[in-house]
This record gives sequence, structure tokens and C-alpha cells, in this order.
Amino acid sequence: MMTVDFRSDTVTKPTPGMLEAMMTAEVGDDVFNEDPTIKKLEAKIAVMFGKEAAIYCPSGTMTNQIALRIHTQPQDEVICDKRSHIYLYEGGGIASNSHISARLVDGDRGRLSPEHILENINNPDDIHLPLTTLVSLENTMNKGGGAYYTLAQIKAVSDAARSNSLKMHLDGARIFNALVETGDRPEDVGELFDTVSACFSKGLGAPVGSALVGSHEHIKKAKRVRKVFGGGMRQAGFLAAACIYALDNHVERLKIDHQKAKALGGLIETIPYVTGLLPVDTNIVIFELDKKVLATDMVAKLKEAGILAVPFGKHEVRLVTHLDIKDDMIDYFGQAVGKLKSAF
Ligand SMILES: *Cc1c(COP(=O)(O)O)cnc(C)c1O
Repeated sequence: MMTVDFRSDTVTKPTPGMLEAMMTAEVGDDVFNEDPTIKKLEAKIAVMFGKEAAIYCPSGTMTNQIALRIHTQPQDEVICDKRSHIYLYEGGGIASNSHISARLVDGDRGRLSPEHILENINNPDDIHLPLTTLVSLENTMNKGGGAYYTLAQIKAVSDAARSNSLKMHLDGARIFNALVETGDRPEDVGELFDTVSACFSKGLGAPVGSALVGSHEHIKKAKRVRKVFGGGMRQAGFLAAACIYALDNHVERLKIDHQKAKALGGLIETIPYVTGLLPVDTNIVIFELDKKVLATDMVAKLKEAGILAVPFGKHEVRLVTHLDIKDDMIDYFGQAVGKLKSAF
């Protein structure tokens, strides 16, 4: 029996080419600003997004949390979707790290519109209300089934935010999944935000790390916060080399992951007790089960068949495609699904 791991696009192992790049990396102490490979990665990702500077961090949670911290003051409020990673999956860091509140809105599969911004800005003259200072978007939207924004949609939100003096942050854990679909240039997206967080450890297949890009001033502040969060790393160039390799070799191929995800979606729709499937726009497949079937039970059944997935709600299950999913694994999934049709 095969084991096929659709739990997340974080489960990938470095390819031989990536490992080679890591083993031969030139390194130094990055807390002393002496790691040439870290510097190379930071310069590369900053230029890609049209920004002055970047900072490499151990995780996307850290880059997001640093951004929240540098853009706000205690008691401020950030507008974000109710399904946002920054709200749901960062351990309450919004409150504990930045001492701010979140204004949760219900976007279209997690995507916000200009109206969401305009309707949720507090009157700055009313001392009862937290001061609205930041908007945080997520692209692609994990909990929205990998939904992405077009450049025009982001621009409309950004215009609404900036005309009200709000800062803009992007949680771009999967920004490259969005960009290969829209064909937009990263620098055009970067222009619409003050800071962008991009993960190398998701679809790009690097073992560790995320970058935050922004102005010199933002990244200078970010370095201070990263140190406090315990994210200053030493000879991290070994990790950065994998990220450089990923940017050079693993961006265009994300389309393959998206095709595979669409194929999974088609197979899942044939299961009689599947009552819903979010549109499969990128590499994330979220489906809903009949109310009689618990997600945990479905995940257990899949596991018995060698398919790993995660429960994503009481009756929702998520599958993610990635670099280590090969064609024969999709065929294998098809066979497993055939057998599971009468499981519940
Ligand atoms: C994975 C992810 C992050 C960052 O996660 P880490 O595991 O901390 O690197 C941030 N936002 C979204 C939408 C994610 O999917």
C-alpha cells in the first residue's frame, strides 16, 4: 500500500538539487549580518516584490506577527477575514504579541472587498472605539479553499484602505500559487502593500522559512522584533540556499499542483456523501460531508486506505497538492475513492 500525504504543502522533502544548493552554501552569522546567502535571498525577494528590503524568518507565523507588530500600536485594530491565518492559526498572537484587536469580516471565500474596509473603519474621534490602522489580506486564502485575488481586486481594497490612512499587509504564504494563476507580476502586487509575507516552506518546497518584504524603515524595525521573538538565526544561509533554489526552480511548476488539485476535486465529487466542494482554484481542495459523517471519521477511513488528509471543520476535509505528489498518486487516490464510496 502507498501512503500519499495530502495533509499540507509543508510536508515536502528537499529535492537533490535543493540539497546540493544547501550543502554548498556560503554562510556566516546572520545576527552579525554576516551571512552572504541570507543577504542574497533577502535582496532577491525584495527586488521581486519591488521593495527596498526583506527579512528572513523561521516561519510565516513570525513574518505575519512581526508585520502586525510594526504596523500597529497597542489598542489598535486590524481588519481581516474571519477565516484568516493571522486570526485562526497563530495562537492568539494578535492579542499577545501586538495587544491589538481583530475586526473580523466575512469575505467571499476569505477575500475582502473595498466595502468591507469602508464599513469597518472605526470613527477615530470616538474614544470608545479601537483605532483602525491596518488591513491584512491573505492570498491565496487557505480556509477559503485556495481562492486568490486578481490585481484589480487587491487594488480596489488597497485604495479604500490607503485613502483612509490604513496600512496594508499581505499574508502571502501562497502568493506564488496566486501569481501563476493570474499572471500578475509580484512587483505590481508588492506596490499595493506596505509589507508582504511570502513562505518558502509551502508550495515552493523549501524545508524552512518565510520572508517579510517592505521599506528599509519597516525591515529595520522588523529586525528588532524578530530578535525579541527569538527568530535571529546564525548560519541560516544553509536554509536560505534552499529558498533561493525554490524561487529559481519551483515557481512555474506550481501550475502542476493546481492541475492535480482539480483532478482530486473531480474524483471527490463522485463520492455520494460529499455534499459540497469549494471551487478548486489553486492547490487546496476543501470538501464538505453529509451531516451524518464526521470529518475525523472520513480522515480515519482515508488513512486506512493510505491517504493522509486533515479535518478542516466538523464536516469539512482539506487536501493539498505539492511538489512530492506524483501522477501515480492521483491514480491511487482515484482507486481509493472508488472503494470509499460506500464507506458511510
Ligand atoms: C502556513 C501559513 C502561514 C505560516 O505558517 P508557518 O507554519 O508559521 O510558516 C501563514 N499564513 C497562511 C495562510 C498559511 O497557510
